[in-house]
Amino acid sequence: MSPQSVVVLRRGDSGPAVADVCARLLLTGDLPASWAERGVPRGTAVFDETVEEAVKSFQQRRGLLVDGVVGRSTYSVLDGARWALGDRVLRYVPDYFLEGDDVVRLQARLLELGFTPGKVDGIHGPATDAALRSFQAAVGLTPDGTLGPETLRAFQALQRSVTGGSANALREREQIRRGGFSLTGRTVVLDPGHGGADPGAVGHGLVEADLSLDLARRIEGRLTAHGVEVVFTRTGTTAGEEIDRAAFANSLEADLVLSIHTDHSEAAAAHGAATFFYGHGDPSRRTQGAWSTIGEHFAELLLREVVARTGLTDCRSHPRSWPLLRRTRMPAVRLEVGYLSHPSDAATLADPLTRDRIAEGVVVALQRLYLGDADTARTGMLKLADLRRHIESARDGHPDHPQPGVTHPGATHPGASA
Ligand SMILES: [Zn+2]
Repeated sequence: MSPQSVVVLRRGDSGPAVADVCARLLLTGDLPASWAERGVPRGTAVFDETVEEAVKSFQQRRGLLVDGVVGRSTYSVLDGARWALGDRVLRYVPDYFLEGDDVVRLQARLLELGFTPGKVDGIHGPATDAALRSFQAAVGLTPDGTLGPETLRAFQALQRSVTGGSANALREREQIRRGGFSLTGRTVVLDPGHGGADPGAVGHGLVEADLSLDLARRIEGRLTAHGVEVVFTRTGTTAGEEIDRAAFANSLEADLVLSIHTDHSEAAAAHGAATFFYGHGDPSRRTQGAWSTIGEHFAELLLREVVARTGLTDCRSHPRSWPLLRRTRMPAVRLEVGYLSHPSDAATLADPLTRDRIAEGVVVALQRLYLGDADTARTGMLKLADLRRHIESARDGHPDHPQPGVTHPGATHPGASA
């Protein structure tokens, strides 16, 4: 019987439909086991006072209207209650959303792991489908949106990391929330890759260590203009190991670390830009550690802005456990912007105008990060002036930032009464 075909059942009714409801109430423990041992023929049952009390007890526990009547909503919750995660294959069905306790568990797990299935309501809708596919992609499974044995194993492998990962994600979000919708007052560590005796990649007349420093300086100029405190992990002549750079960022209690690199490959055709954030791509390794959801978010925002401004090929964002990403206590992202071994990429990077556009992309991505999810839905180019207007309008409505000459009744501002 599907929830659609259910008829309303109440005290006094009898027959197979009542027997079906009673069987479910036995499974949920709302009907006592002794009730099943009354010698009533299989498939028949009477909706008596005991059944009515059991329905009420179930409705009470599930936050439903407590009326002792089994209508559509009570039936569908009752029907779903028998499912534990893994009992059946879960997938998104457009015409008929699967419902049940297993869907609740699935949604809760996705949320804990930093994916957003929408409301945890036990209904397998489009948002849950999208979150499940993202999870599958993140752990290296085929993102087919089907929760079968393989995906279930990946969830189970992550069992122990859930608390840590969740707390980590919450801490990162809390840091952003506390900072408010602005870049002002934040500390960003820029890490120009390589340096000193290590030139990094070399190709088509370009040297990675010089390029990364040049890009960092262009980014610094723009961020400083927005009130951001920018700190470099190295100067033109000094360089340190990734571990030292991470320790340095930690000592500053920076808000974010951006490591800037250009790539090189023996494969002549390799080209494009990619970003990297902290996380284990291998599901079995994820039991040990965390996944930086903010890092992932910023990595995606940054790459999108850089690709839109430079025309470089989008080589996606990827989780990595490199020392700088792993050892930093704040979100850290590494940008690999183009291949010096590729003639077209090299020509793009050789143009100072492109390097300015990359720097602008960094600033816009940071603003998108700190503006929150609602404002990051649009893709492509966004003018800095638009973002500033948005920030200003958000601030206008914000009691912590009163406009000069505007009275806020009931608000108290130290010194305002003088
Ligand atoms: Zn490099």
